[in-house]
Amino acid sequence: MVDLNGQYQTIKEQVNTSISNILETSAFINGPEVKSFQKELETYLGVKHVIPCANGTDALQIAMMGLGLKPGDEVITADFTFAATVEVIALLGLVPVLVDVEIDTFNIDVVALEKAITPKTKAIVPVHLFGQCANMDVILELAKKHNLFVIEDNAQGIGANYIAKDGSKQKSGTIGNVGATSFFPSKNLGCYGDGGAIFTNDDDLAHTLRGIVNHGMYKRYHHDVVGVNSRLDSIQAAVLRAKLPLLDTYNSKRRNAARKYSKAFEGQEHIVVPKLVSNCSEICDTCDCHVFHQYTLRILNGKRDALVQHLNDNDIPCGVYYPIPLHLQKAYADSRYKEEDFPVTNQLVKEVISLPMHTELDEEQIAFITNKVIEFINN
Ligand SMILES: *Cc1c(COP(=O)(O)O)cnc(C)c1O
Repeated sequence: MVDLNGQYQTIKEQVNTSISNILETSAFINGPEVKSFQKELETYLGVKHVIPCANGTDALQIAMMGLGLKPGDEVITADFTFAATVEVIALLGLVPVLVDVEIDTFNIDVVALEKAITPKTKAIVPVHLFGQCANMDVILELAKKHNLFVIEDNAQGIGANYIAKDGSKQKSGTIGNVGATSFFPSKNLGCYGDGGAIFTNDDDLAHTLRGIVNHGMYKRYHHDVVGVNSRLDSIQAAVLRAKLPLLDTYNSKRRNAARKYSKAFEGQEHIVVPKLVSNCSEICDTCDCHVFHQYTLRILNGKRDALVQHLNDNDIPCGVYYPIPLHLQKAYADSRYKEEDFPVTNQLVKEVISLPMHTELDEEQIAFITNKVIEFINN
């Protein structure tokens, strides 16, 4: 699904040099590499504050802690996402409220979202699933109208631009009150272990968050709030510093691969290719509105599971993200949920399949994969 070694070979010298410098200086925690990466990421994103932390799940949790959400507060998010999003809501004693997604973008359905708002709702967590932003224009409008926080789960969207209705461009994760991302190795900007970060333009919130990641300390050994221990280590920061200047190139390689996939699937009646929303009608090179963390097809003729098997038999990696709606997971089931409220997620879990997507895919590999898919689906 990903080719981390191929990518490493192209940045090997820089990464190895920085890592051996860290080993020589022993500045493993909170070293200069972490501070430099923080500044470089702030510049890249055009955001006032980046707060590095240990992983993307922590980033989400710390963002919610920093906003002062209290047990019993309702937090609305999508039924079709990775479990981490809803896990942290539940862990903090908040009430997760799952809503359905849109069939064409896989992102939170803003109509269902509005219906789910109650007087207890305090926050919305849009997930920019597979690398394309949720409908932030409407989400921000609803948040303003109902006085809600917006926490972007940007683990899959780093580097993506959101092009608003008025044509303005903003980096994903910097649009709501706060954004969270992951640097898990297979993410678009991945390190060589675990890592994450929180973004915000709010000075007071940034100050609060910097204390929370460090045991609630604002002054050494003075613990003003309950915090956590969540740090990005220097070695991971060094890897991220080598990769950040290449992120736009990485994302454009992914988009290129996506364009070739979609071209090959043109005219296939049983295959639906990913839809681009934004203000662009095709996978264009300039707007960066989709960074293709995953390239996800819908298979309409009921052969999805058989296709997975067929690709496995041909040594082609593939993935089903995600096979079970969150509202049906044992940990998150709730008697308030009704099946008829989740028609799209219930359908998508049976139709979706993600093909290999990374920066090292070549023409030949894409042709091989698409031929195998098309041949099988039409047989
Ligand atoms: C990867 C991911 C996370 C969690 O990130 P970790 O760094 O693995 O903790 C959260 N949300 C989504 C949508 C993700 O894809």
